[in-house]
Amino acid sequence: MSCFDAAKTLLEFDREHIWHPYTSMTDPLTVFPVLSAKGVYLQLADGTKLIDGMSSWWAAIHGYNHPTLNQALKGQLCDMAHVMFGGITHKPAVDLARMLVNITPVPLEKVFFCDSGSVAVEVAIKMALQYWFAKGKTEKQKLVTLKGGYHGDTFGAMAVCDPVTGMHHLFSGVLPEHFFVPTPPCGFYDPWKDRYIDPLEKILAEYHSQIAALILEPIVQGAGGMRFYSPFYLKKARELCDRHNVLFIADEIATGFGRSGTLFACNQADISPDILCLGKALTGGYLTLAATLTTKEIGTGISQNGGIFMHGPTFMANPLACAVASASVKLLLESAWQKDLKNIEIQLNTELSPAARFNHVTDVRVLGAIGVIELSAPVNMIKVQKAFVEKGVWIRPFGRLIYTMPPYIITKEELSIITTAMLKVTATPEILF
Ligand code: PMP
Repeated sequence: MSCFDAAKTLLEFDREHIWHPYTSMTDPLTVFPVLSAKGVYLQLADGTKLIDGMSSWWAAIHGYNHPTLNQALKGQLCDMAHVMFGGITHKPAVDLARMLVNITPVPLEKVFFCDSGSVAVEVAIKMALQYWFAKGKTEKQKLVTLKGGYHGDTFGAMAVCDPVTGMHHLFSGVLPEHFFVPTPPCGFYDPWKDRYIDPLEKILAEYHSQIAALILEPIVQGAGGMRFYSPFYLKKARELCDRHNVLFIADEIATGFGRSGTLFACNQADISPDILCLGKALTGGYLTLAATLTTKEIGTGISQNGGIFMHGPTFMANPLACAVASASVKLLLESAWQKDLKNIEIQLNTELSPAARFNHVTDVRVLGAIGVIELSAPVNMIKVQKAFVEKGVWIRPFGRLIYTMPPYIITKEELSIITTAMLKVTATPEILF
């Protein structure tokens, strides 16, 4: 069978039988068969090579098929691919936990490994609830969060996603109801005004006795709208949580490992959460792994009077995933990531800003290695995706947003190809809408 025929057969089966993220079974979106990936390039079955502008949804920060990460996996594979974590431990898990405790804000020091970002959020919520339960504050069962947020697709996580874009209407009556405050109205660089935090202050003052934790994506609200907000908001939110005895959960599944320009977005405000969720770039995009970290205070709080933490996934601390994660974090820390991120940020700013003059563009914003063009109306996904592929780049827009978050190893020339394609597509309303 020729390559072309093989790809056709694969696509036919895929279309008939396989669900892709957020798609219909009767009217699926076009999918592009990828044969291999190396560096920042995706190789399609028809011979097309695409420069990846998405890092496979924030994850592939070092690009694909990286020799160091490949080697870490091969080395671990010779020892063991997996072993249960109940009653057993292993070096890959211990090495990774040690590294995470070292690089995350003090005083985070207890690590729970799990399978995906959504599960890391479930675990974080459970930790908060169990902590207050163990302290006898059984009425603290609610969460407070920001509108425009995204924390995952499982039920606990969905309940704290934006009530409109998070599709709460589909599951109303099933999802627990929490408190929502408006999206922070201040961009990352906007001058701070104390009134921006008033809605959160009001809710905490009134309902703190029912609220276990505040959960938010620090600095960057990702899948809920790609918005960047002021570090002052985080600082004030941290102070308010302390004042009202409410835990602070930072969901850094998207922002962790450098994406916003600092290693963790919490570093932008110099704050430490009580519970931190990591995922995505943790393994450099190689395998699914996430981690929820917390403090000694919460760890011992949950465990008082013989308490145990009630979670234990089958693939907890998978050795392959832990080994590649340690290698990925090490690779990042040993690289000139701050300089690379700064250069990407400057280039994205320079090369995307001309989009601001188009009538249908409402905003162009850049932070770290994230560049966003926001439009006045939702884009036609099929037409826009096709146009990007024709221009040799992999950019996947959603709603009114065309955005890029490239691998950190991207060269200046490769990034220019992405930004040029973004400008050209944005300049063409016939493609956009
Ligand atoms: N939290 C945030 C901030 C995310 O961006 C995501 C994924 N987009 C998740 C949680 C859920 O992670 P996963 O898809 O690995 O379950």
